[in-house]
Amino acid sequence: MSAAKKDLIGLTREELTAEMAALGQPAFRARQLWHWLYHRGATDFAAMTTLAKSFRAELDEKYSIGRPGVARAQVSSDGTRKWLLKFADGQEAECVHIPEEDRGTLCISSQVGCTLNCRFCHTGTQLLVRNLAAREIVGQVMLTRDELKEWPSPKDDRQLTNIVLMGMGEPLYNFDEVAKAVKIILDGEGLAISRRKITLSTAGVVPMIRRCGEELGVNLAISLHATNDTLRDELVPLNKKYPIAELLEACRTYPGAHNARRITFEYVMLKDVNDSPAEARELVRLLDGIPAKVNLIPFNPWPGAPYECSSDAAIAAFSEIVFAAGYSSPVRTPRGRDILAACGQLKSDSIRKRRSERVAAPAPV
Ligand code: SAH
Repeated sequence: MSAAKKDLIGLTREELTAEMAALGQPAFRARQLWHWLYHRGATDFAAMTTLAKSFRAELDEKYSIGRPGVARAQVSSDGTRKWLLKFADGQEAECVHIPEEDRGTLCISSQVGCTLNCRFCHTGTQLLVRNLAAREIVGQVMLTRDELKEWPSPKDDRQLTNIVLMGMGEPLYNFDEVAKAVKIILDGEGLAISRRKITLSTAGVVPMIRRCGEELGVNLAISLHATNDTLRDELVPLNKKYPIAELLEACRTYPGAHNARRITFEYVMLKDVNDSPAEARELVRLLDGIPAKVNLIPFNPWPGAPYECSSDAAIAAFSEIVFAAGYSSPVRTPRGRDILAACGQLKSDSIRKRRSERVAAPAPV
């Protein structure tokens, strides 16, 4: 595969159609090609038997069908699988597949590193290296489907049913590429994962929240973690730019949020920092009027972290108050601990390694 070849993965349907039109091919060729790429998972043009041989040869000459490289693959005793991906320029990011009885969730990354510096987050200890391209975001799904041997896209009994953008990075700081990737993932003639099964998690990039709802219509998760601005400024420094009141207003008006489609509020449980009953009551007060559910996440410690996880009793008491106010408040069970991975908490060797490899970060968008 020569580096000069253009990768077809990551082109939207419109872009693929335009690309084929430039080769003198009608729109239905692009549609056939789309089917091979995203429904059948073909990685070899020669296998695309509905296309003329000469056309397959032409495609092979000009294009590639990429997958991210795998630097390391790990399987946890609970079935959680983590892939450390290596992209063409050597940068790495992770994706994690979490199988459950009735579904399988893939947690994907949107950036290599992150600019947000949330104090409890390990990814925040490295500076942003770069945004992932749509090709690299979709590539995480393609690779997982390869590994799960889930081609062609099955209608039922899928092992990959849900996607959460909760891996490394802030998806709303890489909106254009994330949007392209999500549109490809949604396409009913390809990967066909419905918008109800896709959740985008943000630390609260307020001006992009509405666009996310309007253009993508996916579920929204907000990493809240504190109930007052003083504490949230410290835990999630982005709060200084977009404080709690503005963030919650964006949630109140999020297109498509209603009782059947609630916004998830993530709340990491930090011992003696944000876990008091008074804060649970304040959380309930803040969420008033928002179709919400609360995800309590036990803090996943990392070496040198300035926090500890709340006690089981504190988490239970907090959860009870939120639940009594009418909100579902499951405590997210840590998964894949033995491989140092859990969705939304991708702590890994790769991150530790990159701390010593910091490069100058581009200014946040
Ligand atoms: N930037 C986005 C998505 C990445 S973080 C966001 O902030 O939502 C995904 C989730 O993992 C967030 O809720 C984040 O707060 C949580 N998280 C990060 N580090 C964690 C840790 N050490 N323990 C528990 N949850 C953590």
